[in-house]
Amino acid sequence: MKKYSIGIDLGGTKILAGVVEKSTGKVLFEVKNKTKKEKGNKKVGSKIIETLNELFSASDIKKDEISSIGIGLAGQVEREQGVLINAVNLECKDLHIKEILEKEFNIPVYVGNDVEVATFGELNFGAGREHKDIVCIFVGTGIGSSIVKDGKIHLGASQSAGEIGHIIVDLNGRACACGGNGCLEAYASRSAIESRILGAVKKGRKSIITELCEGKNSISSKHIKKSLDAHDEVVTQYVNEAIDYLSGGIASVINFYNPELIILGGGLIQSVDEFYLKTIKKARAKALPTPALSIEFKKAALGDYSGVVGAALLEKRVL
Ligand SMILES: [Zn+2]
Repeated sequence: MKKYSIGIDLGGTKILAGVVEKSTGKVLFEVKNKTKKEKGNKKVGSKIIETLNELFSASDIKKDEISSIGIGLAGQVEREQGVLINAVNLECKDLHIKEILEKEFNIPVYVGNDVEVATFGELNFGAGREHKDIVCIFVGTGIGSSIVKDGKIHLGASQSAGEIGHIIVDLNGRACACGGNGCLEAYASRSAIESRILGAVKKGRKSIITELCEGKNSISSKHIKKSLDAHDEVVTQYVNEAIDYLSGGIASVINFYNPELIILGGGLIQSVDEFYLKTIKKARAKALPTPALSIEFKKAALGDYSGVVGAALLEKRVL
């Protein structure tokens, strides 16, 4: 049996590919590239091929020792045919990624959604080991989640289950990237916090964030951490507001699904301890007593690698 497979995590701004030892989940070789300029089917397809070629050159492991290539894509996917149906950030539509890569490399290719593969990684080698009913929630530009039921990823009737980011928390609320209004992600994602802080600064409120992000219109999780440590009033206010919404959303998930474990990941969770700890405390307090009693929380354990490890294991996923 071949001992290695390749996992690729393709997000809106970066692509990370790694050779993974399947028995341990260890990433032995890796290549990381930016994908900011690559938009559209043709450019995204070529960037993936280029990254894989770089990975093969960087690695000591030969092509015939690789059992499969798995890829997690930030968008809606069709798993059997291996098609990226729609990815707003990458400006891709109906990209037949399985067909393209199998033709190029002659290795079986498996396709999944980015949150699903990160969950699969955590389930096999991260915080989800020895658990069967899990919800994995990743807080970043948006809020993504994936459900594990009896040890298997639960995809739902049309393979789109787990969209916690689009739980509606305010009927006539803020516009969301999905086209709807009042979705959780418009209140509790890193980008939601960012736009609230930038809005307040624009209106004249003083915050050290202006200095930290050097006048640019982007606020990273690390900037948020530094501002909280310095007790910045503006940042503290909007982070607390996001915590209130996120904990409400998580409490709803706890009440509805009664999972044994919720794994939280993504930049904000990984870099801002206060955000993680306050969120889980409030979520537990807001949930109904019975499911709240048994719920366990953990941070994602594989960090930036959960997607790569999970994608490399997609070959053993049962659809
Ligand atoms: Zn939405």
